[in-house]
Amino acid sequence: MPNTRKPNILLIYTGGTIGMIKDTNSGVLKAFDFKNLLRNIPELKLLDCSIKTVSFGTPIDSSNMNPDYWVKIAEIIENNYAAFDGFVVLHGSDTMSYSASALSFMFENLAKPIIFTGSQLPIGDLRTDAKENLITSIQMAAQQRQGIPIIKEVCLYFEYKLYRGNRTTKINAEHFEAFASLNYPCLAESGVHLKISEEHLWKPDPRKPLIVHKNLDTNIALTKLYPGISKNYLECVLSAPGLKGLILETYGAGNTTTEDWFYDLVKQTIARGTHVINVTQCSGGSVNLGQYETSSHLKALGVISGFDITTEAALAKLMYLLGEKITHNSFKTIFETSLRGEMS
Ligand code: ASP
Repeated sequence: MPNTRKPNILLIYTGGTIGMIKDTNSGVLKAFDFKNLLRNIPELKLLDCSIKTVSFGTPIDSSNMNPDYWVKIAEIIENNYAAFDGFVVLHGSDTMSYSASALSFMFENLAKPIIFTGSQLPIGDLRTDAKENLITSIQMAAQQRQGIPIIKEVCLYFEYKLYRGNRTTKINAEHFEAFASLNYPCLAESGVHLKISEEHLWKPDPRKPLIVHKNLDTNIALTKLYPGISKNYLECVLSAPGLKGLILETYGAGNTTTEDWFYDLVKQTIARGTHVINVTQCSGGSVNLGQYETSSHLKALGVISGFDITTEAALAKLMYLLGEKITHNSFKTIFETSLRGEMS
């Protein structure tokens, strides 16, 4: 018997420009209510799927996003996982890549699509990008073959492109094309037809059950190297009480200053049991420890390579792995392994 049931999609509104409205006095964009948002898109009724909606009680600007909210989004999806074929999360663009990365690690063996989207202009704006982003995200989430979702991973849809969420970075504060995935091809494109590149999709083992991980450890720090970075500054960061992991945004292929004080600090930090992860501050390309003399020492010190991971995904992966309480000795190997397609 062919499956004739329409896919059903859960739309989760967390906040962001998509549902905001301009304060008439100050001109400032503020969160508005979700029902207003839906009233502005009568086209949703024309979609060939059924849509249910749920909203944060108080929608937030995504600049206020944090791991507690990630757990909240995860629980909404977990509690509705069996009843829906796919999930679309409406989210501000500012921290969308962090949230999509976090959710990708939180959902192990995900077998349904979770698609993050938002917009640069509010839904009520004449020139809004919100309608296309929302409508196509829902259509992408509803793609099925013989009743089974085609997309089985956490994605981000913006301006005609569907990306693997944990590969994205927000690259522009104004353009409708606000995101890029420089180290991984896009998963689908929307033109006259929706063109899904199935060869690039994540293919989870269908026999494995969904596991939702909710322990995220925030005892981490993120530091970007810059010419002139001082010992004092780095010492301050590294002396944060309870620090368990440091993400170092290094130059190019993972290079750093070769000054003794820097190596000594990194060495002491690793000896204390704090993980040090090397990610590149370039938007594309990979860390390659040992390619230059300026990174070969780091390899010997036991610094973890983030390879071509984004900073956003590295941060989420670090919080997730620290929360999993894996043994110190296996931490480096696990971090350097692609868990959800976040590194090549
Ligand atoms: N500040 C907004 C937010 O991230 C921007 C947006 O929605 O695109 O919530």
